[in-house]
Amino acid sequence: MTYRDLYLKIRDILKKASESPGSEALLLLSHVINQSKEKLLAKFEEKVDEEIVEKALNLTTIRLMGIPLQYITRRCYFYGLELDIIPGVFIPRMETEVLVEVALEVIKKKQIKSVVDIGTGSGAIIIAISKNSNCECFATDVSSLALQIASQNALKHSCKINFLFGPFLEPLKNLLDKIQLIVSNPPYVETKAKLQREVLQEPPEALFAGEDGMDFYKAFFSQPKLLKGKTIIMEFSPEQKLKLEKLLSHLGRLTFFQDQFMKDRFFMLEML
Ligand code: SAM
Ligand code: GLN
Repeated sequence: MTYRDLYLKIRDILKKASESPGSEALLLLSHVINQSKEKLLAKFEEKVDEEIVEKALNLTTIRLMGIPLQYITRRCYFYGLELDIIPGVFIPRMETEVLVEVALEVIKKKQIKSVVDIGTGSGAIIIAISKNSNCECFATDVSSLALQIASQNALKHSCKINFLFGPFLEPLKNLLDKIQLIVSNPPYVETKAKLQREVLQEPPEALFAGEDGMDFYKAFFSQPKLLKGKTIIMEFSPEQKLKLEKLLSHLGRLTFFQDQFMKDRFFMLEML
């Protein structure tokens, strides 16, 4: 059997579980041989060792059981960066890359010098911002596992970020004056939402935010005085737009942005 045969076999099996079986098969196989996709493609006509076939097919079976590929390869990609990921930490989504774009534009336009990412997870957002700006960077999370992986990822990309354990801005209580921009992709899924089985493998505290998915926003904006003058950019679910308008529009200048699929996905609130 050649690498090409094995790739085609994995791809066909993954058609049952994945929307992108071809690219998942390549990622899985390059993970097994511990080489880049390009190196794998270069040896497509070579014969594969039986050991590799067995390992690759075992991992394919695990993927078929609904485990996200990123938890199998322990790797994910965000804003052109390769990040480490493990089960128990939220896998960054491509929609959130647009939040980074919006944040970087605002940083440039307002000459922002300091930013905090609330609920940093793998560190995806704040690492992308740190790599592409000169801001002083902070990040918080209520998951110590997430902070561990985020620190590892920051180190991997030579970013200096202050990671702090605790909810919302609490760990930054004494530094609040200095923070100009707050970004977050918080939990916003309704408790009763029907999710894909892969998403159900992710930590519930990263996803769910009460009956209407609004718990995080309600709690975060319950003390608006603390946020005076700051710019806040957050992700949300399209059907929450009206509720967010009601909750936030009296607090400052509210603007909405769409993701790459033309769905309302982010708001910017410039606090009075
Ligand atoms: N920012 C990452 C990303 O976009 O890939 C992770 C986003 S994930 C949807 C939400 C994260 O917020 C999780 O890591 C979760 O542990 C954290 N979280 C949930 N509630 C929080 C709170 N009150 N304060 C800080 N972090 C919180
Ligand atoms: N958009 C995510 C999903 O796949 C949820 C992200 C979040 O709650 N921040 O369901």
